Amino acid sequence: MNNICRTAFTLVLLITIAVGAGAQQPAPARNLVIFLMDGYRWRELFQGADSSLLFNNRYNHTDSAWTVTKYWDSDPEVRRHKLMPFVWDTIARRGELSGNRAYGNMVNVRNKYWFSYPGRNEAFTGHYDPAVNSNSYPDNPNTNVLEFIDQDPAFHGKIATFASWDAVARILNRHRNGMLVNIYGEDVQGDALTPLQKEANFWQHTLPDIFGKGERLDAGTYALAKAYLLASHPRILYIDFGDNDDFGHAGDYGDYLDAAHYADAAFRDIWTILQQDPFYKDQTSMLIFPDHGRGIGPGWTDHGTETPHSDETYFLAMGPGIPAKGEIKTPGQIYQEQYAQTIAALLGFQFTANHPVAPAVSGIPLK
Ligand SMILES: [Zn+2]
Repeated sequence: MNNICRTAFTLVLLITIAVGAGAQQPAPARNLVIFLMDGYRWRELFQGADSSLLFNNRYNHTDSAWTVTKYWDSDPEVRRHKLMPFVWDTIARRGELSGNRAYGNMVNVRNKYWFSYPGRNEAFTGHYDPAVNSNSYPDNPNTNVLEFIDQDPAFHGKIATFASWDAVARILNRHRNGMLVNIYGEDVQGDALTPLQKEANFWQHTLPDIFGKGERLDAGTYALAKAYLLASHPRILYIDFGDNDDFGHAGDYGDYLDAAHYADAAFRDIWTILQQDPFYKDQTSMLIFPDHGRGIGPGWTDHGTETPHSDETYFLAMGPGIPAKGEIKTPGQIYQEQYAQTIAALLGFQFTANHPVAPAVSGIPLK
């Protein structure tokens, strides 16, 4: 072995040791905000209000003329922009949007159930577990990517979840990992709450329980999450919205559209806050996805394996590590099980668990 060979061999050995010792990958993003939109369809996201539902009195319990004024236009690109202006003004320019099936660009759940607990389990554990087959499933035995990252000292205690639906506490198994998972009916606790946090704690209890026990309206969830972001600067903030699914099951299309429109306003609000704060500015990425889709025509109110098309979803991403591809108009396929490793990779981690973990979404993080 000559000297050059020996030097090269030593270098390779050193690199191998460094990687083997668990060195993190480069972290394109320092922080992450995740939004989940329970049961919101790709159809409204990419095509705007659906005329077969908007103009059907059966699905409009309130003032349908006002709903039409707010969200209808004969041009689908204008229509989708009226519904979700931040998505189309900003994410479509700076991020990427997968799942417009008009171009053969497909995003699907991998699980065979097409409802909420299995959908979130798949997204956050990176694995479809057939045993997780019920929304009343107890504490999730599978390891999720948030608790995996929470083991890192730089992230420990700096990951927070705010969810409209109480089952999210079981899905992320807060009893096992002790992470903050705030759900329906719960105040944020602490000795040094800001005035905004105190207001959010109070006002959530004034919202009507229109979906029954366990389901908080998204306005209450969002207020708590925003107040927490401003007060505590979490490195991962996961906001889990439920209104779209609840209004969908209720067959109330006007309120379903409003829920998407208000969620879009929340995306804009959070993004604006991030870009004004040196802690987050230019080093925080945002992901948006649902847990499942819904049916079409009269089936739009439902989802599950009895309801065709309710496995069809989408994936939106923006920020450091995300290529600015805009709306992807070429054929492709993403599965929901890929999100967990995508979350890990954006923050410089390789997620491993005692179950298989699907690879990150192709092209993320940007090399
Ligand atoms: Zn759901």
